[in-house]
Amino acid sequence: MHPVCRSFGQQDSIWMLLARYCCSDIRRLRSRILRQQQQRWTQTLKIHEYQAKEILAKYGVAVPRGEMANTLEEATVVARKLFAEGASGVVVKAQIHAGGRGKGGGVKVARTREEAEMYAKNILGMQLVTHQTGPQGQKVQRLLIEETAAIDRELYLGIVLDRATGRLVFMASQDGGMEIEEVAAKTPEAIFKETIDPAIGFGAWQARKLAFALGLKATQINQAVTFFQSLYRAFIETDASLIEINPFITTKDDKLIALDAKITFDDNAVFRHPELKALRDTAEEDPLEVEASKYALNYIKLDGSIACMVNGAGLAMATMDIIQYAGGSPANFLDVGGGATQEQIEHAFEILLSDSHVKAIFINIFGGILRVDRLATGVVAATRNLHVTLPIVLRLEGTNVEEGRKILKESGLNFQVGETMKDAAEMVVKAATIRV
Ligand code: GDP
Ligand code: MN
Repeated sequence: MHPVCRSFGQQDSIWMLLARYCCSDIRRLRSRILRQQQQRWTQTLKIHEYQAKEILAKYGVAVPRGEMANTLEEATVVARKLFAEGASGVVVKAQIHAGGRGKGGGVKVARTREEAEMYAKNILGMQLVTHQTGPQGQKVQRLLIEETAAIDRELYLGIVLDRATGRLVFMASQDGGMEIEEVAAKTPEAIFKETIDPAIGFGAWQARKLAFALGLKATQINQAVTFFQSLYRAFIETDASLIEINPFITTKDDKLIALDAKITFDDNAVFRHPELKALRDTAEEDPLEVEASKYALNYIKLDGSIACMVNGAGLAMATMDIIQYAGGSPANFLDVGGGATQEQIEHAFEILLSDSHVKAIFINIFGGILRVDRLATGVVAATRNLHVTLPIVLRLEGTNVEEGRKILKESGLNFQVGETMKDAAEMVVKAATIRV
């Protein structure tokens, strides 16, 4: 979790649940789900480093000269051009939506054109594994080829929303280049913070304070103030949810450069920036998850055999727990939301069914805003329209539950209904086991 994003609404109960588990598999699943949920709640739109640098350059932030390349040919052309323009070296960087690429072998410095070509060939198409991708890694489909910089110091800069104060915080640290999460955990005092008053904005005095805290030379201070203010302006004007420059470097000839750049945007504000929407790279996302996002379904694919359809993130977590407890394993996390429509329920079914590992479907709904009879009508329609043959087990509770049960019974379809969550979980695990 990001150092200053501490208090999420559901965080506490989720961590309490997490603490109950000792099985490392489910722990891994949970941390992946939590990470994705946080991204969805707070910073949905992710972009690549090369796109972030293009945006920052427009705001006057110094970035290295370079270009994105989709193929080895394009990479070769860019590298040649940079060398011809006098670069003493180029850096070949994998463009994936995850950090830690350097450690994983996705960032290489080349001194010659031949070397640059070799690295481009090796990195393009590789399955890059970093601490943020998970063990399966992420396929590299794009490169950024840049002129190298003569690094003097590697520092860190970040702007992020502090949920505790409800204000933006500008962070800076001398421990750049490494994982900032680790710095935050082990030596929090090494991260300097300036809280920004929204009515006043980020003051030049605050920028100066951070510049001094970073131990910058007198000749670099004014340049740093302008640099920091440009970053802040970029954050505000694009409705970003996070900007991170790691490393923010000083060069031997006193320049300040953003050597790496990460920007994510507040999904709720993307409608104000149509140009940002175009930057989304769905090739970086799971195809089923992309499909789910079209219908505002919160879906995360997992490796088990029991598909889950649930309303509410907390209930979805509990459902996964109880499936595991009954001896099964969930095929996904799916929160259809409080006010799911029949159309959404049908799409949810389609997504669940397109996972070939699924052996049974567990629908666990508490009817609050979404009334149980409406849900039952949607489930019956979807089962008919999509010719679902997999066993479907339901556990229903809440508003109009009796009407809902009646609709299921009178449909003539073969639904199994559990009295309690535990009964239903046992039923679905059994149904999935029989079909293996
Ligand atoms: P990340 O690992 O995904 O965060 O990727 P970065 O862009 O931060 O690159 C990782 C590391 O590679 C940096 O911390 C630098 O040490 C190194 N690096 C990146 N670009 C250059 C460059 O132009 N020159 C040199 N010498 N090192 C670089
Ligand atoms: Mn970095």
